[in-house]
Amino acid sequence: MFESSPAALRLTIDGDAIAANWQWLRRRGGAAACGAAVKANGYGLGAAEVVARLAREGCRDFFVSNWAEAMALGAMPDGAALSVLHGVREADMPAALSGIARPVLSSAAQVARWKAAGGGACDVMIDTGMNRLGLRPEEAGVLDGLAIETLLSHLACADEPDHPLNERQLVAFTAAAGRIPAKRYSLANSAGIGLGARYAFDLTRPGLALYGGVPVPDDEAQRHGLRPVARIEAAVVQVRDVAPGESVGYGATWVAGLESRVAIINIGYADGYLRAFSNAGSWRSRDAVYPVIGRVSMDLVAVQVGHDVGEGDWLALDPDLPEASRVSGLSQYELLTGLGHRYQRRWT
Ligand SMILES: *Cc1c(COP(=O)(O)O)cnc(C)c1O
Repeated sequence: MFESSPAALRLTIDGDAIAANWQWLRRRGGAAACGAAVKANGYGLGAAEVVARLAREGCRDFFVSNWAEAMALGAMPDGAALSVLHGVREADMPAALSGIARPVLSSAAQVARWKAAGGGACDVMIDTGMNRLGLRPEEAGVLDGLAIETLLSHLACADEPDHPLNERQLVAFTAAAGRIPAKRYSLANSAGIGLGARYAFDLTRPGLALYGGVPVPDDEAQRHGLRPVARIEAAVVQVRDVAPGESVGYGATWVAGLESRVAIINIGYADGYLRAFSNAGSWRSRDAVYPVIGRVSMDLVAVQVGHDVGEGDWLALDPDLPEASRVSGLSQYELLTGLGHRYQRRWT
């Protein structure tokens, strides 16, 4: 027998940075409690670990998308509650009635279903201008008799602080909050926290900013307040010398002008390092930064390196999500949630 072979691709997740980001967001929310969105397996980083770490910081409100995610998380830490953002289909009722989480009801049909089942405490989403999930405010009559824990709405343009829809949604949510009784009111995601205390209400729901994303990269406070969380390292599978005029990779999209040393590293689009990084990304070896050359393959990427890099060495990706987003044209959300399953994951 032998131990399984160590992976040639590593993802290091800084739990202290997630905790520090949550504390920073909590302070920015003033008197509001600060929750955490852990949908899509904690934005790809590991929902169970994030819940455990943030519960130790005092986080009491967690959000997932659906009941499969709620069931995968299992029991919440003492005093913490989980809400399921997509509400309840008929098929979700056994899970929902088991009490592992509260549904966030978002349509008249869901409200009727929950009432008919005598479902108990729930959350409710109203739509204030995004036209995604939620009852329209004028449908609020169907909520009579429901025990609403948290009334939510969601901002469509919070990462564009000057967008007029922000203020319109704030006004609409404030009006709805005056008419719909609930224990707590919640509007702001990560970017919404950046819009100021008026948007915080009783509970904020950051996701992206916990995980090293910066919702508004031009905002100096966010840039300095939020710490990177996820760091990727890929092993060099092979190093080769490429002569002038030779090309590298599928489609021969990169041609050597000079004699070049090329490291082929163990990552590709199957690991979420998408083809948008072809001839655009960069990797680090100690203090040197080296460019991606040619197309990203499924499992391999070519990097033009110096003589300090040899077979078996590791190249690292700078964990700067706004910069990776700018270079690739992918959103910071896509970069995180696309990470894939081949990483050896390590929490520090
Ligand atoms: C995903 C989500 C959040 C968290 O949003 P971020 O932009 O990642 O901070 C909050 N509320 C709802 C309803 C969501 O769907």
